[in-house]
Amino acid sequence: IRLDYAALIRQMIEQMKTSTAFKTRFAPSPNGWLHLGHAYSALIGADLAAQAGGQFIVRLEDIDVGRARPHFVDGIYQDLEWLGLDWPQPVMVQSERFEIYQTALDKLRQQELVYPCWATRRDISNAVAKRTADGESWPRDPDGAPLYPSLYRNLPDSERRKLMWEGGSYAWRLDMQKAVQMIERNEGNNSAPFYYIETASGEERRVAFDPLSYGDVVLARKDVPTSYHLAVVVDDAAQNITHVTRGQDLQAATSIHIVLQKLLGLPTPLYHHHGLVRDTSGRRLSKQAGDSGFRELRQMGLSLEAVKALLPPPFGNAEI
Ligand code: GLU
Repeated sequence: IRLDYAALIRQMIEQMKTSTAFKTRFAPSPNGWLHLGHAYSALIGADLAAQAGGQFIVRLEDIDVGRARPHFVDGIYQDLEWLGLDWPQPVMVQSERFEIYQTALDKLRQQELVYPCWATRRDISNAVAKRTADGESWPRDPDGAPLYPSLYRNLPDSERRKLMWEGGSYAWRLDMQKAVQMIERNEGNNSAPFYYIETASGEERRVAFDPLSYGDVVLARKDVPTSYHLAVVVDDAAQNITHVTRGQDLQAATSIHIVLQKLLGLPTPLYHHHGLVRDTSGRRLSKQAGDSGFRELRQMGLSLEAVKALLPPPFGNAEI
């Protein structure tokens, strides 16, 4: 038998490249125009991928079907093209994947790690107000929201069935304590399983976190059969993302994502949480606060160079 060594070696190199390949994503929610912070995030992702000889992809995170709009989707693509980016087609669209998120939720349900919760926002704030009536403080999550006061966590089965029968809408919450106990049991020889690798400094740094800091997070909403946390974890794994690039505003939530990866048996990527673009008063840009899209800047006739100059390094010299 004569072997074609050159072809075999080429094949091996290709395999090595794909197994260690760098793959990152820009995952906007089409419920507003992209602002300069998004432009920065997309450019950072594409830049890191280019440096690593890897891949940059776009994913549409439109689970919030009540707020997502087709003209924002078109706007996102136009803006990204204008930035000079390209990405493979077809783009993954989360609103087409509700059944897949449902399967992941089922897996957690079978392990009794999630429970239905009928509480409204008002029920939750009333419960917190009641428990803090005597001036006691109440723990908050890293984003500043009061922790969920575990209203429906320990409901007897009969009570749960009754409420389900009554037909009120409910969310599914992760029993975080139970989840953490299960992970600790599963990883018995790993005394500190809760950390991820952060690369934003240019080096790989280990970031340890408290998995309980967000409490019993919602994994499926009352109005949407999934949540950002569940969908992002399922999809980063489904798309073999090796490096998550996103803003520091989502850094704390990474703790939830690592817990979910462990519970669902999914790989943990590396994380690059970049600094946030701020306006001249130092406030970070946000859609909710009505910061206008950078499409306005380009429609005003600004060049790509001029828009990049408004961003933090390595593109411009704005402060982070
Ligand atoms: N869809 C999220 C957003 O637009 C980003 C999610 C992520 O990068 O993990 O804020």
